[in-house]
Amino acid sequence: MKPLHIGLDFDGVISDCGRLKSEAARLMYGVDIPPENFKKELVVDAGLLTLEQYRDLQRRIYGTEEYGLLAEPVPQVKEHLNRLAADGHRVRIITTRDGETLEVAKKWCAKHGLELDFTGVGFGVTKAAAAEGCHLYCDDDLDKLEPLVGVVPNLFLFSWGYNRHSDPSGVARRIASWPDLYASIVAIATE
Ligand SMILES: [Mg+2]
Repeated sequence: MKPLHIGLDFDGVISDCGRLKSEAARLMYGVDIPPENFKKELVVDAGLLTLEQYRDLQRRIYGTEEYGLLAEPVPQVKEHLNRLAADGHRVRIITTRDGETLEVAKKWCAKHGLELDFTGVGFGVTKAAAAEGCHLYCDDDLDKLEPLVGVVPNLFLFSWGYNRHSDPSGVARRIASWPDLYASIVAIATE
């Protein structure tokens, strides 16, 4: 198996941010919004939260340990990260988190016994420079994948209910779960 350089997003690929947003909305505003609908465009346009409420929720889940550490890992992520390491691949987390939000993510990893190599590019910054040299990259946000076309040869969109409206054709391939992503990585490594 060829050793690969693998880039992964953090929120929505390692940690389950959809569930965390849903839980935070319940705690902060007493509103019940299912994780599969938790995307700014869906929640704010539907009038479930104001833009200000949405921003405040984001600040808390990404920037505070009180909320940030409540997140659950994405199902089966730990065992598959272990398998990737055992297969000899190099895994790097490329996230727009930086500063305080990156520190929260690192504390979350420590809580869950995950040792991950982070590159934090900063909010609103493209991941293209950081992802250069990766054989593949996976994100749950199509907007983050688009600038990587021509930079990273294999791009994957991690499917969740909240990104079901994104059409990745011409940019990325949808993967449904960690077992699905792992199988796709094995296929690339054995090409
Ligand atoms: Mg994400």
